[in-house]
Amino acid sequence: MFRSKLFWRLYSGYAAIIVFSTLIVGILLSRQLSENATQDIENSLSVRSELLTEIGKEMLLQVPSEVIELDLQATLQELGTRTQSRLTIIRPDGRVIADSEESPVAMGNHLQRPEIIDARDTGSGITSRFSQTQQQMMIYKALPVRDGARLLGFVRVSLAAAEVDIQLTQLRRIILISASIVAIIALLIGLYFANRFTEPLSKMTQVAEAISQGDYERRINVSETDEIGSLASAINRMARSSATRMDEITLERNRLSSIFAGMVEGVIDVDQSQKIVHINQVAADLLGLSVQSCIGQPIWEVVRVAEIIDALEQALNNREIVKAQMRHLSEEDDLVVDIYAASLQNEHGDAIGAVVVLHNISELDHLERIRRDFVANASHELKTPITAIRGLTETILDDKEMPETTRDEFIQKAHAQSLRLSTLVTDLMTISRLESDQQQTSSSVFDIVELVRLSLLESEPARNEKQLELNSALSEKPLLLFGDRQAISQLADNLIDNAIKYTDVAGSISVGLEQLAQLAILTVKDSGIGISPQYQQRIFERFYRVDKARSRELGGTGLGLSIVKNIADRHGGNISVESQPGIGSTFKVALPLHSRSPESAK
Ligand code: ADP
Repeated sequence: MFRSKLFWRLYSGYAAIIVFSTLIVGILLSRQLSENATQDIENSLSVRSELLTEIGKEMLLQVPSEVIELDLQATLQELGTRTQSRLTIIRPDGRVIADSEESPVAMGNHLQRPEIIDARDTGSGITSRFSQTQQQMMIYKALPVRDGARLLGFVRVSLAAAEVDIQLTQLRRIILISASIVAIIALLIGLYFANRFTEPLSKMTQVAEAISQGDYERRINVSETDEIGSLASAINRMARSSATRMDEITLERNRLSSIFAGMVEGVIDVDQSQKIVHINQVAADLLGLSVQSCIGQPIWEVVRVAEIIDALEQALNNREIVKAQMRHLSEEDDLVVDIYAASLQNEHGDAIGAVVVLHNISELDHLERIRRDFVANASHELKTPITAIRGLTETILDDKEMPETTRDEFIQKAHAQSLRLSTLVTDLMTISRLESDQQQTSSSVFDIVELVRLSLLESEPARNEKQLELNSALSEKPLLLFGDRQAISQLADNLIDNAIKYTDVAGSISVGLEQLAQLAILTVKDSGIGISPQYQQRIFERFYRVDKARSRELGGTGLGLSIVKNIADRHGGNISVESQPGIGSTFKVALPLHSRSPESAK
């Protein structure tokens, strides 16, 4: 409470009023009391002097002027002792005839004493002064004694002023003590009330302070029903609504952060001076930055991509949405990013910053390129046999006199080209079928051993034609797969076809199928021409052929292995090749077995 400024402001004013008023009352009281006391003394002096006038008159009438009566002195002395005052009787010429405390002989002429002068002139005189006889302050009251109009002399009654002083001092002490007690009690009561007033205010200040620093759970205990109570209730209500608003803001911010973090696009939010306010992980990863180190930095200092900086500048200057693209092409990885920059405005339309959205379209771009290449390649591949067929048939049609044998030869060639065209179209349709989702519906459980056996059977005429030796080591037990039966059958056909195609006459082919853990491993080995290491990965690309002319001659389309790889991938498997030119090639396909297959469970 003593640290409260309000308390001291209130209390110091109150204390000043108390001290000041006690002082005034004390002074007035003590002055009034001294006046009363003086009045009392004067009254008692007056009464005594009036009485003494009677005695003095007799004495002054009886005693001749030259005589000093001893009896008279004795009477006055006794009277003085009884009335506890000094009594003096003085002749009109100033000589003392009797005094209750001093011998009249030793006393000087009193005619010039101020009280006597006043008594003679005004009928009554009162003074206080230091008495040489008594050696102390005395108050004197003198009255003239008259017999008719004749002045007989004066009587004087005096009292020691010290008596009065003692009484007054005592009175003043009493006033001082009581005034001090009253003042102390008043100050203590004031302390209590000032504290009662300021304490709830200090508590409220503390709570309001805590609320302003984010502690929204703090509340003030409201017991008063007055204005202070209303203020406390208002602060409590304010704290409650602040807490609710804060919760809403936090929720909103968290939601925004989650959206930010969960976006596939990279987002950078900058303020008016282009300092980064937010950047999500996707944007940081795209630009090779760390989120923490970028916050608060000017964007042009950390992001060294001219396209982004230019787009941002343009968006900020023109207040429009700017679209740009950044394209970083490299050997291993192409990075293509669409950039959208938009300026942000507040409700008054003032620019408050900008937001940059980065959309990584590298994959899309790559796919688009593959699609374009594919279309170009496919058109080219289709065009070759069509052109050939067209040329051959036109020649036959134009030349009516063509010899029979030449015509047959031309027709044979046109037929071969049409077969090639048919294979090409079949392969293209296979690719299209594999890439459409429809193949999902044709999934079933089947035995791959049986499929491979069928493929080998179908390849028999071709093998025999080239006198190829076949070594087959197929699993005795069925190996169940779950997937597209037709596709897996095509996988085996393509591999066996290639082995036959690329192996010279009288070579050998080995086909193995076994279970390895949860996988079915199909191995197709040949003693053919082999593939150089630099081509070994490329042969799985669409339309890629090591030796174009040879492949074409053999009726190849360049799509066989890409179809095999696609099928293996779609079934959760993989394909690998080992080959040495001139010695032969081994293609190995691993395919996961059906999980409920009795064989795989073993
Ligand atoms: P193609 O229809 O030309 O055979 P593939 O996609 O099946 O197309 O094969 C691509 C290329 O890989 C072939 O052109 C050939 O050069 C090479 N290749 C495929 N299989 C073999 C193999 N068994 N022996 C040697 N080369 C092969």
